[in-house]
Amino acid sequence: MFVFGNENNKWIMRRIINISYRLPFSFVKTDSGVDVRQSAGGLVSAVLQMGPAAGGGKNLWVGCADFSKEEWGLFKSSEDDNFDYLPVFLPKKTNADFYYGFSNSVIWPLFHYFPSFVEYSEKQFGEYRRANEIVCEKIVEVLRDDDIIWVHDYHFFMLPDLLRKKGVQNRIGFFLHIPFPSYELFRVLPKNCKELLLKGILGADLVGFHANDYALHFIRSVKMLLGYQHTLWQIECPDNRVCKIDVFPISTDFKKFNSAYDDPGVVQIRENEIRNVYKNRKVIFSVDRLDYTKGVLYRLKSFEYFLKQYPQWHEKVVFIMVVVPSRDAIQKYWERRKDIEHTVSRINGLYSKLTWQPINYKYGSLSFEELCALYTACNVALITPIRDGMNLVAKEFIASRKDEQGVLILSETAGASHELGEAVLINPIDTVECADKIDFALNIPPDEQRRRMRDMQYLLRDNDINKWRDNFLGELTNVDGDITKAVTTSLTPEKMNAILAQFTGAAKR
Ligand code: UDP
Repeated sequence: MFVFGNENNKWIMRRIINISYRLPFSFVKTDSGVDVRQSAGGLVSAVLQMGPAAGGGKNLWVGCADFSKEEWGLFKSSEDDNFDYLPVFLPKKTNADFYYGFSNSVIWPLFHYFPSFVEYSEKQFGEYRRANEIVCEKIVEVLRDDDIIWVHDYHFFMLPDLLRKKGVQNRIGFFLHIPFPSYELFRVLPKNCKELLLKGILGADLVGFHANDYALHFIRSVKMLLGYQHTLWQIECPDNRVCKIDVFPISTDFKKFNSAYDDPGVVQIRENEIRNVYKNRKVIFSVDRLDYTKGVLYRLKSFEYFLKQYPQWHEKVVFIMVVVPSRDAIQKYWERRKDIEHTVSRINGLYSKLTWQPINYKYGSLSFEELCALYTACNVALITPIRDGMNLVAKEFIASRKDEQGVLILSETAGASHELGEAVLINPIDTVECADKIDFALNIPPDEQRRRMRDMQYLLRDNDINKWRDNFLGELTNVDGDITKAVTTSLTPEKMNAILAQFTGAAKR
């Protein structure tokens, strides 16, 4: 049974309604029929491990369907003990404008500091709003008084406020899994759009971010654009509610990745398919979704510069680079694949010898065993996103190294860098620094690797994915959204005007 406590040690049990764009599984067509596969990633692990709801009942997961109603009828899984699933079937055109359009061609690039990639259209924003309204209707249909609502990510900025407008009084939490950009970037959105997005989020009782900076950027945007004041990160909303802002860095399932080190499937791949093949060579490894925020092209340029500046490493090192397909319906994504593949071939063409190829490139996804075998076989993990809300790959790599060996090179612009201070931190677009740090990392002696790994593992073991979820839900049940009970209240322009009006109009002052 999923329970969590407040600081007074009172235990509370409720049904959780979890809302994310995708449901935590997908239907995959195989030769023998259709497989139902659980998705990977932090959110799915955290939420699915929460156990049953109050009284042994099921929690509910609401998400947009990427399958038809007929497929759902045929293949829906009824075996999950802890969750019911409610797929929302959006009209095809609405989904395209909502997901590929506004969400991934406006919010995603802007919030990752790629403003020149933003392609804004009023129509797509309208469909974004419509999709949020449709999901809102579905939730209201099934909502019970005591449910806790947990909304995830940038697809549903408007949902908390839409729920409030329907009269929903339940606790609502909102968590943003990507960065929140500085006010100077956020303000470039059209007036109506940016105000609706902020007001939408503020419908929640608790808003969570991965890092302090993101929370501060949000609070500043709210102050500059809506004029709402805050006291100790509690924002006073005009409908007499307080919206609390806090930081909850997402993490990984430490035990799962740590114990994978000894998993026979992982050991087999690590020893036979990696170590045996690259016997006397050091291995550098990276894995990312195909996304311009992940810095793959800069990483390749840095590796090329490393090969040029440090010829002593030729034939002694191999870079295994895996790029996982993602959002290939968007032009900016498939264009990038061509550029990456062209650059890989060019570098291999320049430096390869008959018995050595510097880059081993794969475009496709990895099984869990393959991923862990690569995490645990490599000497250096080269994780260099240009911007990343958190970056779980970095944390998974650290968690998986039961041998306390290996070095993490990490962008200082990834959310994970706030916690992983013993990584070798780099600026991902500084190819000279990055090349030097690759050489530095390859030369770190085993004792120093162990010291760095131990420090980072100590932190991740204590702050795993379950703690992230429990901290968020624990705080959500504790926050008091009633403005009259807030620690202090400040004088907003509206309150000031009301006082002045009463004072001016009073017969006796
Ligand atoms: N991952 C995966 N399939 C793969 C390679 C990686 O599912 O072939 C997982 C990986 O284990 C990690 C997630 O994808 O949990 C990537 O998360 P991250 O935060 O690093 O980046 P995101 O893709 O969410 O931007």
